[in-house]
Amino acid sequence: MQQTAEATAWSIDKARELYGIARWGLRYFDINTKGQVTVAPLKEQGGTIAIVDVIKEAVEQGLHFPMLIRFHDLLRNRVERINKAFNDAIVELEYKSIYRGVYPIKVNQLREVVEEIIDAGKPFHHGLEVGSKPELYAALAFHEDRESLIICNGYKDALYIKTALLGRKLGKKIVLVVEKVEEVTNIIRYAKELKVEPMIGLRVRLMSGGKGKWEKSTGEDAKFGLSTQEILQVSDLLKEADLADCLKLVHFHSGSQIPDILTIKKAVREGAMFYAKIKQIGHALEYIDVGGGLGVDYDGSRTTFHSSINYSLNEYARDIVYNIMDVCDSQGVAHPVIISESGRAVVAHHSVLVVETFGDIKKMEHAREPAKPEISHKLVEEAWYNYTHVNPSNPLEAYHDAQHNKEETQVHFELGLIDLEVKAEVEKLFWLTGARVLEHFVNAEYKPDEIVELESKFSDQYLCNFSVFQSLLDHWGYGQLFPIMPLHRLNEEPKRRGTLADITCDSDGTVSKFINLYEEGVDTLPLHDLNGKPYYLGIFLTGAYQDIMGDLHNLFGRVNEAHVFLDEDEDAGYYIEETIEGTTMEKVLGLVQYTGTDLKRKMKSQVDSAIKEDRLRPNEAMRLLGEYEKGLKGYTYLDLKKVRKKS
Ligand SMILES: *Cc1c(COP(=O)(O)O)cnc(C)c1O
Repeated sequence: MQQTAEATAWSIDKARELYGIARWGLRYFDINTKGQVTVAPLKEQGGTIAIVDVIKEAVEQGLHFPMLIRFHDLLRNRVERINKAFNDAIVELEYKSIYRGVYPIKVNQLREVVEEIIDAGKPFHHGLEVGSKPELYAALAFHEDRESLIICNGYKDALYIKTALLGRKLGKKIVLVVEKVEEVTNIIRYAKELKVEPMIGLRVRLMSGGKGKWEKSTGEDAKFGLSTQEILQVSDLLKEADLADCLKLVHFHSGSQIPDILTIKKAVREGAMFYAKIKQIGHALEYIDVGGGLGVDYDGSRTTFHSSINYSLNEYARDIVYNIMDVCDSQGVAHPVIISESGRAVVAHHSVLVVETFGDIKKMEHAREPAKPEISHKLVEEAWYNYTHVNPSNPLEAYHDAQHNKEETQVHFELGLIDLEVKAEVEKLFWLTGARVLEHFVNAEYKPDEIVELESKFSDQYLCNFSVFQSLLDHWGYGQLFPIMPLHRLNEEPKRRGTLADITCDSDGTVSKFINLYEEGVDTLPLHDLNGKPYYLGIFLTGAYQDIMGDLHNLFGRVNEAHVFLDEDEDAGYYIEETIEGTTMEKVLGLVQYTGTDLKRKMKSQVDSAIKEDRLRPNEAMRLLGEYEKGLKGYTYLDLKKVRKKS
């Protein structure tokens, strides 16, 4: 009966609240009555899918964990929403020109992602942005719509410029954005050589800096962009070459994930003033490109914290349109076509990384009520005294005494004065004392910092089959937070708190900061007890920069992928169109110059000598060699089905 009482106290609404899903999920993600996380890729305009159902089907199709699930309809929805936000703002504010978005390929270069964005962007002539030669090569081939733009950023050599000009020959609206004065000379030269009219843009260096993690993108010492003097130099060079009218665009980029809308407003006003002034000195400018920076509210707090943003998409679009209009009107300059280069805000939501937990390390495995230790040693006696004398009126005192006792013990150990038994007993009693101290703070309104820290020391570690370095690089590199939560069992109250440890052998391979509405990250995540069945966690909003960027740390390769499409004709309301196998061991090893043939040959010769020396029997040797060779074709991550069977 007690079970029922507990079950009613906990509710799906409480789970929603606990993990903040309504805040960061933008109505794409929710929890159903079975306690499973669902995704509605088109929000209210389409079906809802339980993520565990997709997992089940993908596993049946042979995929393993970690597994990346891409919701293609969600990607389309993002493209549509961003275009709608700008088009609505243009109508509302009676802006006299249009919006043309471009997608920066570097944010997620996967072909399927780029193709989906191009397709979804067709009605809006949404184009592409590239920052390097390989990206330009991909964009040129996959871009077809002559109305949509290709914006070329980044430093450019001769081949980069010539390739872009080839695009002009094919009739594409492809803009070479000048980052350095020398590039203009080359553009002029090759344009004359190829007899083609280039479209040229200028990246201006703004003084108004961003406040995000990427603030170096602006300001006087920024890596990119032309100073005012350089802008005038470029203007003169183009006029001398009789190409003044080819200068079509003014570009700026204030960095990614800009948390504060004020930064954006200031940058846009400054950029618009550059636009107006450059137009006034005799160039046929048509486009203003406000770059990227539209952020994602990863923690759902709507603040200027680096993993959040204090504005909505509609506010962003309105502020850009309004401020460009205001500045241009004041300067008597016609309204330009507005370009934005949003990457993060387009792709972040569409992919979910699913990891499986396969074990946990509990700090408090000891017996609850230990007997008085038999070892007679002053340090142990002190530890026992501290444990048995936690004073309800001053619980912290016992904790301080226990800390001191533990430190003294460590000093004794380092000097070789005590043996392992004494050290083990003191440490055990230290944790037990800590647990007793914490009991006094369970319902406390105020917890001293020491107690908060102690609590997090007691949190459990959940071992998860993934690599932070492969799949969550910005968490490791910048401390960026991502929403993480169990994908099922949310109809049960999660009674434990834990951190996540990945399977790399690196101590940085953990997730120990989690989103929280009221604080800028907390140390533990509420989780369920493992019950011997698979326990899946979802890491959300990983589609931008993360799922494409891994660094092969410990040679863990790309993860498996399932691409999901909504379809009303299917019984389940969706289907998995494509599964991409993760990188095999042979592939990953090949990237660092170990070829499969070589590895096999070296192993074979060692096996052969082991047979000769009678350390291995021939049939056993062949079996082991066969397993080694088969393993090379396998996935780099843990095969948990086998791990589970053994344990
Ligand atoms: C990275 C980058 C972008 C994408 O920025 P987001 O903040 O992800 O939208 C856009 N433009 C340029 C020039 C970039 O370098």
